[in-house]
Amino acid sequence: MKPFPPFSTIPQNEDEAFMLEALKEARKAYEKEEVPVGAVLVHNKRIIARAHNQTELLTDATAHAEILCITMGSAALENWRLAETTLYCTLEPCSMCAGAMLLSRIPNLVWGTPDIRHGANGSWVDLFEKPHPTHAMSIKKGILQDECAFLMKEFFKNRRNRPSFKKGVPEEYFCHGE
Ligand SMILES: [Zn+2]
Repeated sequence: MKPFPPFSTIPQNEDEAFMLEALKEARKAYEKEEVPVGAVLVHNKRIIARAHNQTELLTDATAHAEILCITMGSAALENWRLAETTLYCTLEPCSMCAGAMLLSRIPNLVWGTPDIRHGANGSWVDLFEKPHPTHAMSIKKGILQDECAFLMKEFFKNRRNRPSFKKGVPEEYFCHGE
């Protein structure tokens, strides 16, 4: 596999810092040959849940990073209403995850790169286009988009080339001094 390009991975703000954490989760998925999507749920500037896509491992199409984060976050807060949280996802959420965000009352969503096939925030459909009657959500798109997209592109490129798929992402991909 050719080396991952030298991204500027020094976060410039809080959103980028948390998105880098979501990207670490995406990288874990990549290494397990799962579609590399990661998410973290933040409450009071603290990560209370982190997860990556586990669709293959669990043989479950609903085992998306965001859903796993919502479940873990609800347990952490002992409340299914995830008030005052921000969900960071490397990929535009699908319709299932977007629906779950509305149901769990997540007030803030930050996502990285569009999902042209399943994206439910404009790429395929937009579940957040109309204001919801009871729940308002603030959304930021395109945070560390290039980094989030790169992992996806590498994954699908390598999957196409199987069986030559090689596990592992070079360490230099995450060089922000953790
Ligand atoms: Zn999803």
